[in-house]
Amino acid sequence: MKINIIGGGPAGMYFAILMKRARAGHKITIYERNGPDDTFGWGVVFSGKTLAALRRADEPSHAKITRDFEAWDNVDVVHRDQKISIHGNSFSGIARIRLLKILQNRCEELGISVNFRREIDDVEALKLDCDLLIGADGVNSLVRESLKRDFQPSLSSRPNKYIWYGTEQLFHGLTLTFRETLAGVFAAHSYKFDKTTSTFIVECDQQTWGNAGFAGKSDEATRSYLAEVFAADLQGHPLLSNNSKWINFVIVKNGRWSLNNVVLLGDALHTAHFSIGSGTKLAMEDAIALKRCFDETSDVSVALQSFEEVRRPVIEDYQAAAYESMVWFESARQYMHLDPLALAYGLMTRSKRIDYETLKRRDPAFIAAYENSAIKA
Ligand SMILES: Cc1cc2nc3c(=O)[nH]c(=O)nc-3n(C[C@H](O)[C@H](O)[C@H](O)COP(=O)(O)OP(=O)(O)OC[C@H]3O[C@@H](n4cnc5c(N)ncnc54)[C@H](O)[C@@H]3O)c2cc1C
Repeated sequence: MKINIIGGGPAGMYFAILMKRARAGHKITIYERNGPDDTFGWGVVFSGKTLAALRRADEPSHAKITRDFEAWDNVDVVHRDQKISIHGNSFSGIARIRLLKILQNRCEELGISVNFRREIDDVEALKLDCDLLIGADGVNSLVRESLKRDFQPSLSSRPNKYIWYGTEQLFHGLTLTFRETLAGVFAAHSYKFDKTTSTFIVECDQQTWGNAGFAGKSDEATRSYLAEVFAADLQGHPLLSNNSKWINFVIVKNGRWSLNNVVLLGDALHTAHFSIGSGTKLAMEDAIALKRCFDETSDVSVALQSFEEVRRPVIEDYQAAAYESMVWFESARQYMHLDPLALAYGLMTRSKRIDYETLKRRDPAFIAAYENSAIKA
């Protein structure tokens, strides 16, 4: 089969790897507008469950990914200068650039041709030139836009502002920090992803953003402002920018996932708020699911149809949980009156996927402390 892939991110490369492994005769070409060393973002997170799926799908890349991992089992919630740790949540982080390098090397090893610095502006030509065209071209997908009458995408931009930074302050565990200031409430989502660096995402509502005057602040002034807000957490470490910009989260959904021999994958197909886990995990799990459909049939339209049937309910479920979580953060200011234990409990159960019983099983000491504080209150 001849497969063209637009986008050399995790979704595109991982799908190429899995298909080439399954059948060496597939002719697979990836088109990527960036160079092999260009990237944005800092670290990406995987759960223990995702890692098991990656091991089953491709052992060599799994071995390399896990060799460079930083693992943890705690979520830390910081509120009013008090840190509450909740254990029993297995996660790991890796630098996005490291992950992309591992996938690039694996593509090379398997004989997949990756054309870097090739911006695609004509989807139609690539579509006619292959048996299967994958639109793995990210959240602003050209493939989705070109076929929007068929895919019927819905894009909804959310009110909160957020910005991805890095820092050399190491956060051991997923740390959710709340700081109340005169401008309003800031939340930071942070975790270490290698021996020296952590991801540090700052989120705030529009009102806080406006009060802080970010519209008129330079990159440097924004970083110093936020370093001041989170001074107690960063302990003197600066915030590091990687072309970091304030953005509004966009929820992407599609009425249809494929048309003839074209299918969307990863962020081009769907997004889920970063507070519940990374888009990288979903992108790679999409690749696994689509490849499995090709294990069952070599008929492209049958495989694409069954991909949507199998994967859509999983994604809708995930997006529903991510929605609850996102709305919680959008309303963070209304929870600031809670004491740290009550806030931590509310946060852990915000997406309605983890309940009292799960928390009690995972971390009985946390539940005991929470109940104790509720009695005293
Ligand atoms: C600013 C920002 C920072 C982020 N940082 C993180 C982070 O630190 N951790 C994390 O877990 N997630 C992060 N994310 C989310 C994460 O990047 C995605 O969820 C994940 O990468 C999805 O994988 P993907 O392969 O579907 O898309 P992407 O990784 O976006 O890959 C799509 C690829 O397609 C290429 N492309 C697009 N259009 C064309 C075209 N016309 N021609 C050729 N190539 C094209 C792009 O250059 C890109 O490499 C970030 C997102 C943004 C917007």
